[in-house]
Amino acid sequence: MNKVVVIGSLNIDIIQKLARLPKQGETLGIESQRTNFGGKGANQAVAAARQGAAVTFVGAIGYDDGGKRYVALLDEENIDTRYIVTKPVDPTGTAYIMLEEDGHNTILVYGGANQALTEADVMAAADAIRDADVVVAQLEVPQAVILAGFKLAHAHGGTTILNPAPVTTQVAPALLAETDLIVPNETEAAALLDLVPTVASTELAERCAMMQTQLGVQHIVVTLGAAGSFYVVNGTQGHMSSFKVRAIDTTAAGDTFIGTIATYINADMTNIEAVMQRASFASALAVSRLGAMSSIPYQAEIEAGLKEL
Ligand code: ADP
Repeated sequence: MNKVVVIGSLNIDIIQKLARLPKQGETLGIESQRTNFGGKGANQAVAAARQGAAVTFVGAIGYDDGGKRYVALLDEENIDTRYIVTKPVDPTGTAYIMLEEDGHNTILVYGGANQALTEADVMAAADAIRDADVVVAQLEVPQAVILAGFKLAHAHGGTTILNPAPVTTQVAPALLAETDLIVPNETEAAALLDLVPTVASTELAERCAMMQTQLGVQHIVVTLGAAGSFYVVNGTQGHMSSFKVRAIDTTAAGDTFIGTIATYINADMTNIEAVMQRASFASALAVSRLGAMSSIPYQAEIEAGLKEL
C-alpha cells in the first residue's frame, strides 16, 4: 500500500434546509442546519487512510475552533497532521450548502485558509513529499502551491495525481506538465476541453486523446457517476461499469474513488484495472449511504465485498 501525501482543502460544511432560496433583498428562515467536516482534500485523505494507506496532509486551517476540531478529527483517522498550518488572519474554509425543498442544491464556497496556503507551507512538508509514493491534489488550494509539491514529488520518484475539481477551464500548463494521472469527472473533463459532457465510450476515447495532446497528460481516468469510469493509461483504454447499488447520497463518491486509486496504484500504473475495480466498489459503498465523510468505507468491508464478486 502506498505512502500518500494529500495537498488539499479542509472545509467546514454548513448544510441548510430551506423551503426555497431567498430573492435578492429578502429575509427567509432556515428550517434546519447542521455542520459537517468536508473539502475534497480531506475526503480523499480519509478515503485513503481508511484503506490503510499511510497518509500525510498538507493544508491550512484558520484561527477558529472549527479548524482545531478538524485537525483532531484527522488525527483520529490516523492521518499525519503535522504539516497542517494555522493561518492567523483567515477563517477555516467554509462551504454553505443550501438544500431546497424541490431538491435543488446551491453551494457557496469560501476558500479562507485553503486559499492562504503557500509554497513555503508545502516546502515545510518536503520530507513527507520526498518519501511519498503518491502525491494527490485538487483545485481548492492555489495551483502554484500544488505545482511546488508536484515538482518535489517528481524530483524524488513520486507519482502525481490531479483531480481538477471544482470544475474549471483553467489549469496552468506548468501544473499539467507535472501531472502523471488526471482524474476528472465527466463535467470536469468536458470543461477542460471546452466541450459539453458525455459518458459515451467512443467520444470519451476521443476526448482522452485530446487531453493527451492539448493538456499533455498521458494517463487519464474519467469518472462517470452511475455510468462508471473510463481510462486511458499506458496507451490502453477501457470502460469500468459501476456496481449496482441503491443510490442514497452520491456526496464523496469521487473522493472515495480517488483516495482508493492513490492508495493502490503502482508506480508504472500497470495495475490500473484492478485498482479501478476496487475504487468503483469503494465508491458504490459510499453512494449507498447517507453523508459525506461518514459514508467513506473501510478496508475490511471493501475486502469482504470484493471477495464475494
Ligand atoms: P464526482 O463525485 O467527483 O462527481 P462521480 O459522480 O463520477 O464523481 O462518481 C465517482 C465514481 O463513483 C463513479 O466512477 C462510480 O464508480 C461511482 N458512482 C457514482 N455514482 C454511482 C451510482 N449511482 N451507483 C454506483 N456507483 C456510483
